[in-house]
Amino acid sequence: MKLHNTLTNRKEDFAPVKPGRAGIYICGPTVYNLIHIGNARPYVVFDVLRRYLEHIGYTVNYIQNFTDIDDRIIAKAKDEGTDFLDVADKYIAEFFTDIDGLNIKRAAHYPRVTGEIPDIIALVQLLVAKGFAYEVGGTVYFSAPKADNYGKLSKKNIQDLAAGARVEINTDKRHPSDFVLWKAAKPGEPSWPSPWGGGRPGWHIECSVMARKYIGQTIDIHAGGQDLIFPHHENEIAQSEAEMPGPFVNYWLHNGMILSNNQKMAKSDGNFFLVRDAAQKFSYNVLRFYLLSAHYRMPLNFSEELIQAAANGLERIRNCRRNLLEAQQKAISGDFTMPDDIGNLRKAFEAALADDLNTANAITALFELVKFANTHISTHKAILQAILDEMDFMCGLLGITLEVNDNSGANTAEIEALISKRNAAKAAKDWAAADSIRDKLAEMGIVIKDTREGTKWHYA
Ligand SMILES: [Zn+2]
Repeated sequence: MKLHNTLTNRKEDFAPVKPGRAGIYICGPTVYNLIHIGNARPYVVFDVLRRYLEHIGYTVNYIQNFTDIDDRIIAKAKDEGTDFLDVADKYIAEFFTDIDGLNIKRAAHYPRVTGEIPDIIALVQLLVAKGFAYEVGGTVYFSAPKADNYGKLSKKNIQDLAAGARVEINTDKRHPSDFVLWKAAKPGEPSWPSPWGGGRPGWHIECSVMARKYIGQTIDIHAGGQDLIFPHHENEIAQSEAEMPGPFVNYWLHNGMILSNNQKMAKSDGNFFLVRDAAQKFSYNVLRFYLLSAHYRMPLNFSEELIQAAANGLERIRNCRRNLLEAQQKAISGDFTMPDDIGNLRKAFEAALADDLNTANAITALFELVKFANTHISTHKAILQAILDEMDFMCGLLGITLEVNDNSGANTAEIEALISKRNAAKAAKDWAAADSIRDKLAEMGIVIKDTREGTKWHYA
């Protein structure tokens, strides 16, 4: 499998640290709100990466953290008059509702910051002892210029960063790129005792600790959104490679942003669409299909039209599957030649995923299979079964469910209502009305066929 590595800016063959095993670390959410569609994209696309690696024989150790202590969580707890852990617990439960709805496989572990405080303190102590970090007034900073090649992931130069930095007021930092490892507690804030007094971890340090604790010294794949490259992932590398020699991570994978009105979807800008709302309007399944419709590195536009297009596409696949199952009822056995197309489309599907997880091209192969099934109606049991098997295999790898009936079927109800209207017109010998309904269906891309068992339809 080839993966695009942000660190080298090249597509590289995936070679794991341990044969047959793949350790994947993905940055999880800060739990103070419901997740929006932009937040959901990495969980969906990297779930397909995991499914594909498992399919080609890897045992995958998939780890995702929860940031359960943060200024925004504390602020929310204050607003609601509750404890910060109640806020975190509530939104972790809500996160799982969305994640399960989106059919994302569970990680092996979901470490939380508040569960890892002793290990975090131990790493900060080590970084101070090794001369990579310094304390001022109970806050510990990482000294970015001490890191080996700081800026190597984000392709930033530490001199440029210093020159471009805003002048910070009241900072104790020695260099503008230095960052907090341990934050001294303000009065009334949750805090933990440490060698530097009461405080709590900075944001970046948790991932350095958890990735190595739950995966090992070198992580095969570290994934997240492109907005995490700098400073979060850059700082993770600095901390971890100061702790012990690198590489900390062999393959850095970053997904593109979801754009809404040409801007990154972000809670802080109020420019977001919640997964929960989209799932209610469409379905989780449709949302997942939409999120996989573009290559993960590309930006993806958010619009209801695009989600509706995904819903229609999914319905096209479902409809084809229904027709195949129906055709199977009266299919024949005996001699047959398996058409090459079926195996070739499977190869195209797998080749697309092997090429840096190109789900867009994989979905194209899936639609080619639908087209093949619709245009080569077979009466042979084994051929029908082979098409059904391939369809189920492809949808399974993408994590798409075909059995459930979700809101995407609205289109189907409309089509079936038109077909019964046309049949009524035919029964009344109103041929003009029957023809005009047939034309209307054709305009909608629906092909109908009158059979002894009634009117059958499929997408053109
Ligand atoms: Zn992280």
